[in-house]
Amino acid sequence: MRDWLAHRVRASPDALALVDADSSREWSFRDLDDAVETTSRRLAGLGVEPGDHVGVLMETRPAFVRLVFAAQRVGATLVPLNARLAPAELAGQVETADVHVVVTEAESETDAVEAAGEVPVASVDAPDHEGVDALDAHDAAVPEPDRSVSDALALMFTSGTTGDPKAVRLTHANFLAAAAASAFRLGALPDDRWLCPLSMYHMGGLSIVLRSVLYGTTAVVQRGFDAARTLHNLDAHDCTGVSLVPTMLRRMLDAGEFPDSLRFALVGGAPTPVELREDAVSRGVPVHPSYGMTEAASQIATGTPAETEAAPDSVGRPLMGYDVTVAGPEGELPAGEVGAIHVAGPSITPGYYDAPEANADAFTRHGFDTGDAGYIDASGRLHVLNRQSDRIITGGENVHPAEVLDVLRDHPAVTEAAVVGLDDPEWGERVAALVVPEGETDADEIRAFCRERLAGYKVPRTVAFADDLPRTASGTVDRAAVREALAAAAD
Ligand code: ATP
Ligand code: MG
Repeated sequence: MRDWLAHRVRASPDALALVDADSSREWSFRDLDDAVETTSRRLAGLGVEPGDHVGVLMETRPAFVRLVFAAQRVGATLVPLNARLAPAELAGQVETADVHVVVTEAESETDAVEAAGEVPVASVDAPDHEGVDALDAHDAAVPEPDRSVSDALALMFTSGTTGDPKAVRLTHANFLAAAAASAFRLGALPDDRWLCPLSMYHMGGLSIVLRSVLYGTTAVVQRGFDAARTLHNLDAHDCTGVSLVPTMLRRMLDAGEFPDSLRFALVGGAPTPVELREDAVSRGVPVHPSYGMTEAASQIATGTPAETEAAPDSVGRPLMGYDVTVAGPEGELPAGEVGAIHVAGPSITPGYYDAPEANADAFTRHGFDTGDAGYIDASGRLHVLNRQSDRIITGGENVHPAEVLDVLRDHPAVTEAAVVGLDDPEWGERVAALVVPEGETDADEIRAFCRERLAGYKVPRTVAFADDLPRTASGTVDRAAVREALAAAAD
């Protein structure tokens, strides 16, 4: 299947396809098909041909949804670009992904022109910037492209947590397989309405929109995130599903109550504190922890609320069709042992775009190396600890910051903490903890508390205190800054 919307409109033309939560405008699949037909002609009018790469630089909105399916209709590959990046970073991505044209919106025209260089730029809004074309009306119908399911539906950039973002080539077959496996676990129903408060230039957001057309369910889109508005939209549009990253869930729980209409809240994309999951489940939020990555076209493991209660620190079992292997230097590890998480399955990318070296590193005999450390428990549930690169090697032993953090968080005077490795002349690295305290404690007392609960080599040798943990722009703990603070404290 190459034109997902054409397929859907034959099956259920009058079902509700898309709601713009911001304006309450609605489109049936037939309406959406008409709008996409117009957009696909406009893309062809810009000179887009089958196989071309169409960059899209905009926040989540109906025009982005139209572009996703219009690109399919002309046989082009979608390249979502992160609207929060600086123009210089975007320029690198436009070049890396061999983008032929950048389609943007009013708010991002200036950045798009700066990033695009020689590449033409068009706007879905009335262009207001020199060098930006209108996405003009164009009469000629687009001939049906000769494309197959092994052609790329999208090139998606990873988030760049462990280095520069990588361009991941994902085929129609990859997205179809990911959608099927997820629907099987969640039990997607024709009446579902799935709210998308996520950016469509990340996998979480794009997959909601693609899947709604595949399943025949409704995608409810909103621009940007704030907790109160998201809770309001869930309720106002009778949503049955939502996808959230952990910080969003935290803010929404602090802002109010989730509506009863909700059947599933997929929560993932980043480590999710156990207390957060437990808090959400105790307040009736149907949390389905979800673990995935851009390279897998979304989740590879998802848990249910019942499983979350039984094993609150797990991300659930692998989805149908996925082999998850935890491996150490000598090969596959038994249940319970921590190692590198690898995955093989039908939605795993055939490879990074034009990056033979990265591909040689990422694919092993166990499948794709996720770069994450974790273990599979005796019941077959997957537990994700942290990135492999965050692992601390002290005196030849592996220490995962997550194991130490779990203990620190149990200490009554610890609000938050971060655990990193510091260079050590004797041990290679040593475990160090930066702690945000609440009440009376000191380094010796914290070490004693850890020593009762952890193997000696896992106990932080350096403990320092701070009012807050340093964070990156995206809200994750800035591990380099934590390391600097601890190194300074240790001197
Ligand atoms: P890069 O690959 O460029 O370093 P990234 O890995 O952050 O960036 P994404 O593909 O957006 O880019 O994120 C996938 C990663 O997010 C996973 O490999 C994992 O580390 C983390 N992740 C996703 N879901 C979960 C989860 N439920 N629990 C813990 N970590 C998660
Ligand atoms: Mg990654």
